[in-house]
Amino acid sequence: MQISKRIDGKARADRLVAAVAAATAKLKVEAGTAPGLCALLVGEDPASQVYVRNKGKAATAAGIQSFQETLPATISEAELLALIARLNAYERVDGILVQLPLPKHIDPQRVIDAIDPAKDVDGFHAQNVGQLWSGGVRRALVPCTPYGCLLLLRDALPSLAGAEAVVLGRSNIVGKPMAALLLSENCTVTFVHSRSRDIPAILRRADILVTAVGQPELVRGSWIKEGAVVIDVGINRVAAADGKSKLVGDVAFAEAQGIAGAITPVPGGVGPMTIACLLRNTLIAACRRRGRAEPDV
Ligand code: NAP
Repeated sequence: MQISKRIDGKARADRLVAAVAAATAKLKVEAGTAPGLCALLVGEDPASQVYVRNKGKAATAAGIQSFQETLPATISEAELLALIARLNAYERVDGILVQLPLPKHIDPQRVIDAIDPAKDVDGFHAQNVGQLWSGGVRRALVPCTPYGCLLLLRDALPSLAGAEAVVLGRSNIVGKPMAALLLSENCTVTFVHSRSRDIPAILRRADILVTAVGQPELVRGSWIKEGAVVIDVGINRVAAADGKSKLVGDVAFAEAQGIAGAITPVPGGVGPMTIACLLRNTLIAACRRRGRAEPDV
């Protein structure tokens, strides 16, 4: 039995953050100001609080100025849109991030589309989505999680061109932009979702498998093609044998061992890449807004 290579997302993310920090320091010297990232947190969801705190800490560590707006869950959509309009006009903010989910009375797409596309570091604005799909990967701000997956795939494979890539999940934040990126790398791309028929048979064709469904260990070892590169985006909290809880991915990791050529662990795979790519997007947005050449990070 061959040993599956464990794709170390933490180490790759550390290298990307170091490159972003170096380019940020250079920009600061040349342009006189650091890039700025503002996170908007609406309500008191504990997981969202942790995500926003971690993003802020990572930004500061990379030399990016971090701002945070913490807002009550009762804020009206109009008030939130007015705040975004102010941040759009605020010179020191290069990136605006609205932590999702938002309270039910607020339309997330309306909020995202109110962000200046040049400051949309999550890459969810319709203009960035359109640019990504129309081939302008270099002009768009690309969603962080799928871009992080692409960087891991580029490291794992000498070439992506012609590979059969299957994306399990079709969300706007992961599955769809992932497919656009794989298409731009000349993969043959198939989407699989909850209405797909015979999912195991489709997955067994995949040279590249990206899973983003949020279903603990849905993908069994027998669904994976021998030698496939598997990127597991899923983060699922399940009960552990010791009565506590643990995180698992969408793929049954132990079963995939010896079948996949390479696979990301959960945790320690895609997760760290998401934050690193957010910092990268903030740096890129800052360079574009200052009319500077984009660093090759
Ligand atoms: P989402 O919006 O809930 O979308 C889930 C997708 O999976 C949908 O397209 C759904 O199909 C499909 N699906 C669900 N159950 C399925 C099944 N049994 N068979 C086939 N397809 C199924 O989720 P998301 O926001 O993309 O997130 C997916 C996972 O990634 C979650 O665990 C999330 O926590 C994780 N995540 C991780 C990161 C990171 O940084 N590592 C970032 C973002 C998300 P339909 O469209 O037909 O309903």
